[in-house]
Amino acid sequence: MQPKGTILFGVDPLVIHDPYAIDYRHSYAQDSPFFVGLTKGQLLGSRCTGCRHTYATPRAHCMSCGAETVWHVLPLTGRIHTFTTCYYGGEAFLDETPFTLILVEFEGVDTLFFSRLKRVDAGGVRIGMPVRARFAKTPTFKVTDVWFEPTDEPSSLKG
Ligand SMILES: [Zn+2]
Repeated sequence: MQPKGTILFGVDPLVIHDPYAIDYRHSYAQDSPFFVGLTKGQLLGSRCTGCRHTYATPRAHCMSCGAETVWHVLPLTGRIHTFTTCYYGGEAFLDETPFTLILVEFEGVDTLFFSRLKRVDAGGVRIGMPVRARFAKTPTFKVTDVWFEPTDEPSSLKG
């Protein structure tokens, strides 16, 4: 009787190269306006129609009170709330690895926006650094169509 499972008999594990490609089609559904907004240089969050809680990452219903939300145009400048530097990235980020991920805070917005930071070395990133959104000239309708860069523009955020 043959044993079940993987058993190696003093040989190096086999490594095979088997590339494949797929045409992955999916819908952004109710999130579509956010991605269209990126093509127009806009960041679209959402605001609750009940308690007025404002989300940097749009959502159809409020997490606080459950009411529906409406689209809300976010400021293009904000401040770095926190950051991390990534030394390993997926295929889309190989050319820019290591890269920095940031959470951006905006005036009048209650949640943070997750994005990438460009044009600054990892050692130069600081919490509270003013940043401005930048948009891809040739949009791909992906979250990589937007990123942030340091700016000298005054932030309207206090503190
Ligand atoms: Zn609400």
